[in-house]
Amino acid sequence: MKSTMMDVPLLIPEIVERARHFFAEREIVSLMVAGRGEDGQPTAKLHRTTYGEVAERALRLASAITAAGVGPGERVATLAVNSYRHLEAYLGVPSSGAVLHTLNIRLHPDQLCWIINHAEDKVLLIENLFADKIPTILENCPSIEKIVVLGPLPKPMDGVEDYDTWIMNHAPQSRYPEMLETDAAGMCYTSGTTGNPKAVTYSHRSTLLHSLASAPKDALNVGQSDAVLPIVPMFHVNAWGLPYTCSLYGAKLVFAGAFSDGPSLAKLMQDEQVTITAGVPTIWMGLLNELDRAVGAGKPYQLQLERLVVGGSAAPEAMIRAFSERHHLKLAQAWGMTETHPLGTVSITPPGMKFASDAGYALAAKQGVAVPTVQLEILDDAGNILPHDGKSMGRLITRGPWIAGSYYGGAGQENFLELGGQQWFDTGDIATLDGRGFMHIQDRAKDLIKSGGEWISSVDLENALMAHPAVSQAAVIAMPDPKWDERPLAVLVLRPDHDHPGYAELTAFLSPRFAKWWLPDAYEVVAAIPIGATGKFLKRELREQFAEKKAE
Ligand code: ADP
Repeated sequence: MKSTMMDVPLLIPEIVERARHFFAEREIVSLMVAGRGEDGQPTAKLHRTTYGEVAERALRLASAITAAGVGPGERVATLAVNSYRHLEAYLGVPSSGAVLHTLNIRLHPDQLCWIINHAEDKVLLIENLFADKIPTILENCPSIEKIVVLGPLPKPMDGVEDYDTWIMNHAPQSRYPEMLETDAAGMCYTSGTTGNPKAVTYSHRSTLLHSLASAPKDALNVGQSDAVLPIVPMFHVNAWGLPYTCSLYGAKLVFAGAFSDGPSLAKLMQDEQVTITAGVPTIWMGLLNELDRAVGAGKPYQLQLERLVVGGSAAPEAMIRAFSERHHLKLAQAWGMTETHPLGTVSITPPGMKFASDAGYALAAKQGVAVPTVQLEILDDAGNILPHDGKSMGRLITRGPWIAGSYYGGAGQENFLELGGQQWFDTGDIATLDGRGFMHIQDRAKDLIKSGGEWISSVDLENALMAHPAVSQAAVIAMPDPKWDERPLAVLVLRPDHDHPGYAELTAFLSPRFAKWWLPDAYEVVAAIPIGATGKFLKRELREQFAEKKAE
């Protein structure tokens, strides 16, 4: 029997209209680059606006896009930092029926042009900070018909338009075009840590459902009374959906723009009374150092933070502990990827357990429980479903209403599979699941170390090593071995004023927690671990670096 309920499409205009009418007065604060100091470093100034103004300008942008001849489903790209103007693009581009394609600002120009050409972007909204890339883009990207610069240009440039002038020359769009909830609204390329970048297109429906599911207490806990600072870039999986979630629920949004250093972030959090923030572990290391320094100097920051969401790569237990024990701050781990919009799991502390306890920290170091409607399974090499016993390690597969069912242009079909008549996405992660639904990432499949036919989790070893007082960062990689196929090698960055603890001490440090054959064969110290465009260790580079070293 068919239900009697209305079939109302789930569209991004719902988010725009709520922001515009219900939260018109709620603030949007952006840290912008004011100029350069004597040391050449950017200096900051604050920009304040409201959802009311942003929504109005977003609708002007929608009109301008349509007037520029961008039709439904065509791509408008952004190459921009986190700011109110980027938020206008988030709201305005899909409101015109076009697709918002957020480009990664840290890509090499060749890769950037490859992606623009692959996506066939028609309009590019580019931050003035990246204006030096414009000539290369104009020369190499024939699909680009219009380049619009966000923020003032130091000197006029041919063939480009100023964003503020452009949108103010158009009246706000008065009617939304016809749209289906399944139409594409956003487009993101994977960061390519596992091969050529592949694109996912998010729908209006998946964006709205993702926003609805991100807000509850056991997800990211976002409500109208919050002030949210997404440090995760807006080009990286829609800043984990936070700009949409906050606009839907009316949370104050705070953007850090081009600033991601500990002191700038800590000051912004204090001044704007930020309650929720989100970023990758490397960002939190910088913040932790700054908070420690301030306490040491007798001038601790006065923070209102309720939670720091951490994702993108595993948060070491030592870091979760340090924030909690030294600063009474709670790190909440979340897992996801470009293909999952990204929210897949969030770590929660079950009733009866205290977050600030050994058991609580150990659980918080896992990736957490799937948010409602996201399903997870683990498979063995033969494709059989493995038990949820907290021990069996397998390939993590997922399905749900905001999980990609294919890539744009049909690439990467091997990542999708059918199981029991249902479609699933193979994440490329190796994980365990336990009976309460807690998922624990052991590795990316390509980073796993296979020694004597058995798997060793590099992530577990890294997390344990980062708890050693001399170690600031650790990456464990596989090195070829004639006898065992592969053996683990630990690459370490030491804390300032610490010496290499040595093989014997590190082996003794890890021994109580791991089987003997898991322990690294060697511990190499480097000045820095190479980090990719989204803040993750580039293990492929490390493997190459140490393979060469071994061959010398
Ligand atoms: P890419 O796949 O190109 O690196 P993504 O940003 O989509 O780009 O990365 C997703 C991957 O990041 C996941 O598959 C997983 O391996 C890793 N990841 C994300 N969040 C976590 C987390 N909380 N703990 C461990 N790994 C994580």
